[in-house]
Amino acid sequence: MKGGQYGLSGKVQTVTGLIDPIDVGPCLMHEHILCDIRPPDYKLREPIGYDIPIQERFAIDYGEFDAPGNLVLNDVDQAIDEINFMLADGGRTIVDLSCGGLHPDPVGLKKIAEATGANIVIGCGYYVHDYQDDATEKKTVDELCSDIISQVTIGAWGSDVRAGIIGEIGCQSPWTDLEKRIMEAAIIAQHETGASLAVHPGRHEAQPQEIADFAAAQNANMSRLIVSHIDRTIFDEARLFRLADSGVVLEFDLFGMETSYYKWNEAIDMPNDAVRLRWIRSLIDRGHIGQILIAHDICYRTRLKSCGGHGYGHIFRNVLPIMKRRSFTDQEIEQILVRNPARLLSFL
Ligand SMILES: [Zn+2]
Repeated sequence: MKGGQYGLSGKVQTVTGLIDPIDVGPCLMHEHILCDIRPPDYKLREPIGYDIPIQERFAIDYGEFDAPGNLVLNDVDQAIDEINFMLADGGRTIVDLSCGGLHPDPVGLKKIAEATGANIVIGCGYYVHDYQDDATEKKTVDELCSDIISQVTIGAWGSDVRAGIIGEIGCQSPWTDLEKRIMEAAIIAQHETGASLAVHPGRHEAQPQEIADFAAAQNANMSRLIVSHIDRTIFDEARLFRLADSGVVLEFDLFGMETSYYKWNEAIDMPNDAVRLRWIRSLIDRGHIGQILIAHDICYRTRLKSCGGHGYGHIFRNVLPIMKRRSFTDQEIEQILVRNPARLLSFL
């Protein structure tokens, strides 16, 4: 009951304050509303793609050419429109996991929450090594841990807006020493604050298990460890089931990406929404319903409705009816979209 020492126990911490888990409602656990996910070398380049001409939308989205500006979400007014679209589609709560290295903007997110009435929860900690500056690279486990704890209990990135979850903690494959220190710090902070912990694994298919084994050895709370991006990382059942047996939460968070070509790893075939639902069905049939989350991980402008994309409402508008047609029960849908998020966002 560690969160108790900060008055967080049993509550969900949004950017505008604490709410009860019952008020979470339909929830997206892994998105980005304001972020800059340009790889470091892209930041030196002309940000083409910031405006998305209609004739180039598909080409930019598909990766026919590099459009660094497509990877920047920094327009608060546009974000307000996008979150209002999500509310109209049936969403209620959205988790922005733009943490250190992804240009987090807690004050901007608070404005968006106030303007829309949506519950917005923010993450904290640090994204992958390549996005970190020299000062962060030099930090010890203790320093990283106190950073994360203060982001949850005092305020994130110089603001008084507090984080409600730890992550997305970035890991690359191969896993770097800095990333292991950050992960160790995040696990200590998980126990200290009672928050859940979301991890971004590297693109190698063995890395989610490597992270789960590391976390188990560090005595992490495995039922509150979310492994993101399963749908671009694991493609065989034995590997998926072994990871599920570790007790972690499996997040299929690239819903809305319907194209098999995946620019960031050309060796794989990206599944579409129908295939994602088949994997989820096989996990449910094996008894893992309490360990499943879904989201879109929007971090490109081409995925916004204002730029011709599917927007944050796609899961509520389009995926939910597919789930019903494919014999997912109302109870199963509610568990994935409402009850699992409410459990994970409630502090211990
Ligand atoms: Zn993400």
